[in-house]
Amino acid sequence: MKFGGTSVGNGERIVNVARLVLKEKPPVIVVVSALGGVTDKLIGIANRVVELPTHVVEKEVGLFYRELLLQHRNAVLEAVGDKRVVSEVLPKITELADQLKVALLGVGYLEDLSPKSLDYIMSFGERLSVVIVAGALSSMGAKAVSLTGFEAGIITDSNFGHARPKHVLMRDEVKKRLLPYVKKGVVPVVTGFVGGDEKGRITTLGRGGSDYTASLIGRYINAKEVQIWTDVDGILTTDPKIVPNAKLISELSYVEAMDLAYFGAKVIHSKMIEPAMVVNIPVRVLNTFKPDCSGTLIVSKQKKIQEVIKAIAITKDVVILNLQGIGMAETPNIAGRVFSVLGGNNINVLMISGSSESNLSFVVKAKDSERAIGLLTEEFGNGDIRGIGTIPEVCVISVVGAGMHGTKGIAAKLFDTVSQAGVNIIMIAQGSSEVNIAFAVSAKDSKSALEALHKRFIG
Ligand code: ADP
Ligand code: ASP
Ligand code: MG
Repeated sequence: MKFGGTSVGNGERIVNVARLVLKEKPPVIVVVSALGGVTDKLIGIANRVVELPTHVVEKEVGLFYRELLLQHRNAVLEAVGDKRVVSEVLPKITELADQLKVALLGVGYLEDLSPKSLDYIMSFGERLSVVIVAGALSSMGAKAVSLTGFEAGIITDSNFGHARPKHVLMRDEVKKRLLPYVKKGVVPVVTGFVGGDEKGRITTLGRGGSDYTASLIGRYINAKEVQIWTDVDGILTTDPKIVPNAKLISELSYVEAMDLAYFGAKVIHSKMIEPAMVVNIPVRVLNTFKPDCSGTLIVSKQKKIQEVIKAIAITKDVVILNLQGIGMAETPNIAGRVFSVLGGNNINVLMISGSSESNLSFVVKAKDSERAIGLLTEEFGNGDIRGIGTIPEVCVISVVGAGMHGTKGIAAKLFDTVSQAGVNIIMIAQGSSEVNIAFAVSAKDSKSALEALHKRFIG
């Protein structure tokens, strides 16, 4: 059972989470995120202190420390009823906050924030929350233990900020470290998002990575089911923050869910489906605040599909890069080089369009675009291409549904709908699985396009 940041947002909500855990048929392993907003705050302070003049570092860090400690102490006092447990949990919270303070002072005085230091700093969000959740469970009479991802066997490479699991090691370690607790009837409460490399240094799995932690653990302990408890009813037909009448999808296939997450449905992390899929573990997305709602079940084969299009996802803040002046014969090689130079530097290519004779277009996150242009200029600067063009302020809209496979005329209807809404399509890509069609539009048009598509295909 994995609970997201909103689900553990304060003491009262943590009590609710503990009740849900105790209602579930044991054995249960719990994975939690940081209290809502805490990861953003940790990133914020780390980036601030590194820029501050030395004489104000201590004051700024002190202020942050007091606020964060207060927030977590309040959560403890609300979530943990048993005085004896409170007296065990509070010193742990203070000790963690103290360690964080030392790290922030170090970053501030040295004026150096490496990805490694940032991972260490970010990890405190989850390391604090697991202690409170385990405390709430103990206070309700359960046996519970809080663990870091590393202690639970989440062993990764040393790619700080986007660490990748070391599957060969995890295969045995997760079982070895978690099953002894489970056998004794103890509920392990594990930090989402946080792992450790082979040297035991803290790593993180990428923003939103707690879902990934849960499915990795599920895979390696051979769980019956992985549950993602969040703040919406399940996976909806689109982001309800954009289209308020988005509807709940009761069942999705792994591939559909993976495509949706990849193209921006942040309700599940884009990497989380794969570990569940390879061992065929069902994933259920559920609402912490409406536990009786049936949620979304993700399984290998969806039942007969009525709707051709099941959901629409949107990725914001992306940029189209365009390599110009490529000879046709060179294109396959150039595409390979683009992927390897960007991939090797942790820049994800979100979509790539079949090239024309002289152009190759692809989409990257806006935050990566400058770095991407630098790397590509270095790679192709010797005259292989004529130049690199950019189209900024773009969104990618992706329409997903296994029913599209072999259904004629879908693309035509889609593009007709978008053009009727007065929106120009800049770039198109369809995966050969025919489970999704993705296209890029200008950011200012994205809401109209999304609303028009949702109205026509979903209602
Ligand atoms: P958690 O903190 O529980 O991990 P997230 O904020 O990461 O929660 O993800 C839940 C949010 O995902 C929802 O509040 C919703 O705004 C957003 N979201 C985007 N696309 C979808 C979708 N298709 N279905 C449901 N939620 C979506
Ligand atoms: N706390 C982390 C984040 O905000 C991980 C997560 O919530 O899944 O990105
Ligand atoms: Mg999330």
